[in-house]
Amino acid sequence: MAKARSLISRALMLSVFCAHEAGAAGAGPEDYAAERAEMVSRQIADRGVSDERVLAAMRKVPRHEFVPDSEKRTAYRDTPLPIGESQTISQPYIVALMTELARPEKNHRVLEVGTGSGYQAAVLAEIVDHVYSIEIEPTLARTASDVLQRLGYDNVTVRSGDGYLGWAEHAPFDAIVITAAPDHVPEPLIGQLKPGGRMVVPVGPIASTQQLRVLEKNAAGKVTSTVVAPVRFVPLRRRDD
Ligand code: SAH
Repeated sequence: MAKARSLISRALMLSVFCAHEAGAAGAGPEDYAAERAEMVSRQIADRGVSDERVLAAMRKVPRHEFVPDSEKRTAYRDTPLPIGESQTISQPYIVALMTELARPEKNHRVLEVGTGSGYQAAVLAEIVDHVYSIEIEPTLARTASDVLQRLGYDNVTVRSGDGYLGWAEHAPFDAIVITAAPDHVPEPLIGQLKPGGRMVVPVGPIASTQQLRVLEKNAAGKVTSTVVAPVRFVPLRRRDD
């Protein structure tokens, strides 16, 4: 009897903890879907991102799973968030915009440089066949890879390394998305872009003057570049920095 009572009180305690945790996070798991829907309509669709596949991916990927516990409460806010190692997960709108600009298709193979939390890779992976993602910081590469695996994204491959050099073994890529800012477009990455492919890259030596660019390589291999918007990204570092 005493044992039964203690089991009951344990169960009660657990449920109190769960309720408290959900309260502390500002929402339970179901509410995150509501927060995501709200994020997509207010922060993303209202600002002009209209590709339905991108909007659906943003509605689906659980952003809160890609941020540290201390940030879960704020995961769906209109802002970048710290993910450790002095790095950040980009603002949701920027992730959606870069995904749309890459014009991802179901049969595409995409390279991402700057895995960070793994969130952008997951959004791309909802749309394309396979995402290869490179992260220079080994701790982040490991954490992102674990989260992606846990969530079932088996079409994302993460490795630690200097993304400036791309991933020759899996090139050429239909699209390349760079989520850290180099001061010039990396030559090896232009080489690894398929004819007809697109690269989305923030370029600029200082955060205050970076520009988001789209590079297109035509069938003949000629590359043109368009400036889309001013942006602020962490700098692309080199291995020997
Ligand atoms: N796409 C990420 C956010 C990226 S923040 C997300 O969805 O969370 C930029 C990331 O680029 C950081 O994690 C940083 O460590 C990484 N980075 C910087 N220089 C790099 C390089 N040369 N190669 C690969 N990753 C790099």
